[in-house]
Amino acid sequence: MKYYSTNRTAPIADLHKAVTKGLAEDRGLYMPETIHKLPREFFENIEEMSFQDIAYNVASAFFGEDVDLDALQEIVFDTLRFDCPVVKVTDNIHSLELFHGPTLAFKDVGARFMARLLQYFIRMDGGEERVNVLVATSGDTGSAVANGFLGVEGIHVYVLYPKGKVSPIQECQFTTLGKNITAVEVDGVFDDCQALVKSAFMDKALNDHMRLTSANSINVARFLPQAFYYFNAYARMKRQCNGRKLVMCVPSGNFGNICSALFGHRMGLPIHRFIAANNANDVFYNYLKTGQYEPKPSIQTLANAMDVGDPSNFARIYDLYGGSHEQIAALISGATYTDQQIRETMRECHAENGYVLDPHGACGYRALKEQLQADEVGVFCETAHPAKFKEKVDEILGIDIAIPDRLAAFMKGEKQSVAMTKDFADFKAYLMKE
Ligand SMILES: *Cc1c(COP(=O)(O)O)cnc(C)c1O
Repeated sequence: MKYYSTNRTAPIADLHKAVTKGLAEDRGLYMPETIHKLPREFFENIEEMSFQDIAYNVASAFFGEDVDLDALQEIVFDTLRFDCPVVKVTDNIHSLELFHGPTLAFKDVGARFMARLLQYFIRMDGGEERVNVLVATSGDTGSAVANGFLGVEGIHVYVLYPKGKVSPIQECQFTTLGKNITAVEVDGVFDDCQALVKSAFMDKALNDHMRLTSANSINVARFLPQAFYYFNAYARMKRQCNGRKLVMCVPSGNFGNICSALFGHRMGLPIHRFIAANNANDVFYNYLKTGQYEPKPSIQTLANAMDVGDPSNFARIYDLYGGSHEQIAALISGATYTDQQIRETMRECHAENGYVLDPHGACGYRALKEQLQADEVGVFCETAHPAKFKEKVDEILGIDIAIPDRLAAFMKGEKQSVAMTKDFADFKAYLMKE
């Protein structure tokens, strides 16, 4: 499969290059030249298939031309060692719980899949030289990437995070792992971490010294595998739909998750329409209304993993529909909620249905509740386990939510990190000795 850049001026790449480089030379995002439709028989029997088997079929359509099929199957099965249940919340609203992975984040799937695909390509190259992944995090991405890459031979990961700015639960998810994961605690804010990573990629001496790559969410190997979730959701919902049309609602920040669902739709997945639910960061919502895309600085909200003022995957969605606002607005509707509305929604859903929403999922639930028609059935993504936002959820709902064992286990480990200033010269000097 060939991959082109959404900016259309970079050379065409193969999957190997798209995965190892992440971003194209013209700073555009890689798009596959062809999106294969899955055969009708696949959808006829999908409800009989397991999550892993469904995902393997989807992965073959995306990556089967470039990856040996046995290896691909092994990568998919290794990535999906957990369940992805659809839970009924009301008569016509269901929660697709994307948080049953190793760090209880939906980003676990993309992170692990990318780690294993990168390893596959490194081995093909002979695998002599260590590949170093740099990732800046404000919390969740770092834990998913660190755990996804943990123990993957030939790759070392440096997670840069702002000192004192991530929650204790998040911090221990990437500082206690050891092995091929190094946590770098930067005396600064998230933007400083991101600036250090960007400078590193541009520094010639450093790139001559070591092979560097990024595990950013724009990487095709990180965002495309999220489509597995949506095929699985359809399979689990197929019988319950009973003639009603299926609406998929995705709480969105950088729009990678919903973008993978739209790729699924292009492959023939029978989802009638989509809703992109936002917090107060309403750039996409405004685009749907006006046809103008006007990025803004991000606003801090309760649903902080969605605090994005210039969603990077907008470029992919725009490209997927040939830049047609009409087509995009016909398939996707928007929603935007204030923190006060998020709180209200969490309280209301808990009181009426006994279901505990996290602040991100709350945006999705509310958008369905407000927009679902009588002949439709809705599924929203619950993107985070509510215990990951324990302080907020407990305070809003007046409960004491239990921390799952898997999360508690990280908290028993010993924190190890490298202290770093926000000066690039210091970070470079450190890496030059590695
Ligand atoms: C990353 C994240 C999102 C947003 O996903 P995008 O793919 O960036 O749109 C939503 N909720 C949670 C909990 C997340 O971690």
